Amino acid sequence: MAPKLLQIGSLTERMKNNLAAEFDIVPLPMDGAQAAFLAEHAESITAVVNVGHYGVPPDLMAALTNLRIISNYGVGYDTIDAAAAAKRGIVVTHTPNVLNDEVANTAILLWFAVSRRLVPNDAYVRAGRWEKEGNTPLTHTVQGRTVGILGLGRIGQAIADRLAVFDATVVYHARSEKDVPYRYFADLTEMAAACDVMIVITPGGAETRHMVNAEVMAALGPEGILVNVARGTVVDETALVQALKDGTLGGAGLDVFEAEPKVPEALFAMDNVVLQPHVGSATRETRQAMGDLTCENLTQWLKDGTTVTPVPECRDL
Ligand code: NDP
Repeated sequence: MAPKLLQIGSLTERMKNNLAAEFDIVPLPMDGAQAAFLAEHAESITAVVNVGHYGVPPDLMAALTNLRIISNYGVGYDTIDAAAAAKRGIVVTHTPNVLNDEVANTAILLWFAVSRRLVPNDAYVRAGRWEKEGNTPLTHTVQGRTVGILGLGRIGQAIADRLAVFDATVVYHARSEKDVPYRYFADLTEMAAACDVMIVITPGGAETRHMVNAEVMAALGPEGILVNVARGTVVDETALVQALKDGTLGGAGLDVFEAEPKVPEALFAMDNVVLQPHVGSATRETRQAMGDLTCENLTQWLKDGTTVTPVPECRDL
């Protein structure tokens, strides 16, 4: 009998085809039918595929008593308690590296859009104002700036690589200093004070929650730009809205939000802000590569019990 795979979120056709050949796929109902569904299936489910932000909440993980593997579509796995899973011998896998370029491109895109006022300028032309009112105000160059990367991991490094083309001085903050030719700041506020732009690309979760607070944003300053392509939780969103309102922060490019898809309405009216609906990796090419790796982790596990890209917490399983 094919092993039972719990599907959380929606699968692409390609993923469905890849997995249906080897697994009995049962989609998790997202409504009141969940209790009855679990009563019927929980014990026989050995694998989970998670697509999207629902993750595997603790009560769901506890209910799946024979669970062996969780394959997460995405590199960030802050909605899955991987340490708790590892304790139970459940391997959690994710999709690192295949999305580095895309997310790095998104970060640069957001910075440029904010700095060069791409969105308000586009609206200005479309409204016919250029012809009637003349040129728009000058903006600031993206060339030769000091750019601080918060989280110099796989994606952070891909961002740093791109910055060389723009003659940027790259600086960074992470938990530990790396062997890289960029200045390390052990203190985030000090880094913010030294930057024109700060790009946030750490994991989410309790450890990084509200790292970018009012003090950090004030240090970035009235001309400073904050780009967040990490997780909404890393930035204190209430403080962000306030800093943008009172001008202590110059602008922001945001792909992620604390309670997404809910976005603070105060941001909608601000023309120094560019908002994206969490599309950092959302191209057909990159999503296909992520889907393939998500499936490969499951099919390889089925074949020989190993996985391609386990998360660090589960590498010794
Ligand atoms: P990595 O694990 O390679 O890098 C994470 C970096 O964050 C490391 O440099 C790490 O520092 C640093 N970091 C972790 N915790 C802290 C902390 N408490 N304080 C300071 N720095 C910290 O991850 P990736 O680059 O592959 O991905 C990063 C994140 O990007 C993902 O977890 C995900 O949340 C987000 N992401 C967002 C996407 C989007 O669509 N917007 C798409 C893909 C990813 P150290 O090396 O010192 O441990």
